[in-house]
Amino acid sequence: MEKCKFCGSSEQLEFNAKEQMFGIGEAFVYKECKSCGSLQLATVPSDMSPYYSGGYYSFQELVPSSSLKNLFKTLRLKAFFLIGRKEFEPTYGYWLKKLKPKFSDRIADIGCGNGQLLYELFASGYQDLHGFDPFMSQEKVISPNLTLWKKTIEESEMQFDLIMMHHSFEHMSDPLEILNSCFEKLQSGGKLLIRTPVSDAQVWKEERAFWVQLDAPRHLIIPSIKGFELVSKKVGFELKEVEFDSTDFQFWGTELYKRGLPLDPELVSNEFSKEEFEEYQKKALYYNQEGLGDQVCFYLTKP
Ligand SMILES: [Zn+2]
Repeated sequence: MEKCKFCGSSEQLEFNAKEQMFGIGEAFVYKECKSCGSLQLATVPSDMSPYYSGGYYSFQELVPSSSLKNLFKTLRLKAFFLIGRKEFEPTYGYWLKKLKPKFSDRIADIGCGNGQLLYELFASGYQDLHGFDPFMSQEKVISPNLTLWKKTIEESEMQFDLIMMHHSFEHMSDPLEILNSCFEKLQSGGKLLIRTPVSDAQVWKEERAFWVQLDAPRHLIIPSIKGFELVSKKVGFELKEVEFDSTDFQFWGTELYKRGLPLDPELVSNEFSKEEFEEYQKKALYYNQEGLGDQVCFYLTKP
């Protein structure tokens, strides 16, 4: 019998979840661990490509900015680090502020998609940036400071000061394997940031298979905080902090699925009023404060 990939328990509940992002409607069997609450897709389809068709958001083209704008971004980030003024904070500021990487640190982004986030770091002055994604169309050297590699991090010879996974962890099939790879590729004292949905989410508990971040069948694993802590300790990481950073998406995305609609940006503005979005944003902040949100940042260190 298949075991929980996080805690090893064989006590699991089965449930069905449909593909809803593109409105394909095909049903998939998931398992919910009775012990740690983590979720996993029971059987990973041998060909996932039908579920990553055309408009999948991670593979839109990278949008570069002018060198003048990049200079501005560098100055703004330096001002943010030095003075800590809120108006200088980039949109990704909350986790960058916690990690405080040096501009010379070697940084990897696993599952970097089109590399836009690394590009923003490059534009802000970071000098040794590497994106990994075996599904990108071709390797891209954006600058001597930024390369997007068409391969996995396991296939790289490099060691890193910081490894990040921004909503790519849940697309991997084996949490132990990917965490072991990150551990091997980090310098000692190196940091790992994993941003992922978690099954501790109130939305999951209330709405079950309609939960937008269950995202069947693309999300192969969704940890509970407890399950993630167990597997990361097993690898040798220290879990320093868990920060909830969920958004209004958890509410309107889930509501869209309950109405039987796909995740179409044009539909979204028709289905919900400005007031409803504002309510959802407030509720998301409250959920994050109370530890009820549907995604977190896991901050880990290799001792
Ligand atoms: Zn478990």
